Amino acid sequence: MPHNRIAPKRALVQWLATILLLVLPFMRHDGDSLLRLDAASRTLLFFGARIRIEEFYLFLIAVLIMVFAFLFVTMIFGRVWCGWFCPQTTITDLTDFFNRKVEHFLPGTFAANLLKQLSYILLSFVVAANLIWYFIPPAEFFRRLAGGEIGMVAGMTLTVVFVLVYLDLVLVRRVFCKTVCPYGRIQLLTMDRNTLTLEFDPSLKSACIKCGSCERNCPMGIDIKDGLQIECINCGRCLDACREVMAKLGRGGLIHYTFGIKAEGGGRPLNRKTLFLGGIIVLLSALLILGIADRKGATIKIQRGANGEVRRLPEGAVINFFTAFVENRSVTPGTFTLSVAPVNGFRTELIGPVTNISLAANANRRVDLVVKVSPVPQSRQDLELHLIRDGKTIAVTLMPLLID
Ligand code: SF4
Ligand code: SF4
Repeated sequence: MPHNRIAPKRALVQWLATILLLVLPFMRHDGDSLLRLDAASRTLLFFGARIRIEEFYLFLIAVLIMVFAFLFVTMIFGRVWCGWFCPQTTITDLTDFFNRKVEHFLPGTFAANLLKQLSYILLSFVVAANLIWYFIPPAEFFRRLAGGEIGMVAGMTLTVVFVLVYLDLVLVRRVFCKTVCPYGRIQLLTMDRNTLTLEFDPSLKSACIKCGSCERNCPMGIDIKDGLQIECINCGRCLDACREVMAKLGRGGLIHYTFGIKAEGGGRPLNRKTLFLGGIIVLLSALLILGIADRKGATIKIQRGANGEVRRLPEGAVINFFTAFVENRSVTPGTFTLSVAPVNGFRTELIGPVTNISLAANANRRVDLVVKVSPVPQSRQDLELHLIRDGKTIAVTLMPLLID
């Protein structure tokens, strides 16, 4: 009986996830990275949006979405992440595959060991460089690396990640999943009887011919027949092995992916808990989208001049000194103007370089200015300072005018 193997599907998912991780830093939008954290300007480039570190609430919402999405996926799909998506499993599978091939063609030779070491070094470098590309664009990374100008922080990160991945490949590999990785432990807390797991069907126990193929093929060295174990990464190798054995006997496999067993109260992956978590994710995502859509193209902040001076002029006017900080948050250069809103019964005037303020995309500028009001008001006034681009006010802030 032909049997449906899980392995090719899992390999396809692993390749697609790996290619996405590798290619994403090379993808560009409007001349800049599609997804990158630019440390120098403290800006997250996020699929066309530029989120400044000052817009902390957007970061916070994004982090909350990731945390809830993590819980949601884990609650429904259990450790499918470990076997199908996790980079640790992928690089370990790749290394095992390469080592098997090398040993097949050059068993126990010096050349085999040399090739293995070279593959560890190459893979460690690719993983470390791939991580850095989410901070420094790949083209700039290679240019700086070739010119010996990679910089202290990037250089240290590259070296540390490279060494850790190399040691992982040489010494640790699957032991990491069994002992160090916290995900398996967290998963035990979040899973319930409806979570997707790989199970040896207890109702088919009598059909098991005790061939041991499932156990021999398990990369984690466990026996699925002993029930759910923390070491299981849901890779499905035991499922394939059992299906192959049973197919020769004209029967179906005894190991299955299942969202729990109905008779035991399971079988409902979409239940109250998962729908509640899903609802929170949808709500937070809507908030994030609204937050990004509502972001201003530019901002203005104001503070009193360094010496905080207030002066009365003989002609019956009062002047205050301020420093304005204008920031262009849009993805295109712009020319800005500062203007003070008129106040009934008073003449208001801004003095300083307040027109033709040219700013490149994502740039900011300090503008020292003086506001003059006549006649002198009886008490302190809050004046409105407008930031104008293309004839439209795009940001407003208050300037407290002191009279003495
Ligand atoms: S028990 Fe099966 S699914 Fe779990 S790690 Fe072993 S082979 Fe993979
Ligand atoms: S591979 Fe299937 S038949 Fe063989 S021991 Fe495992 S569960 Fe039993």
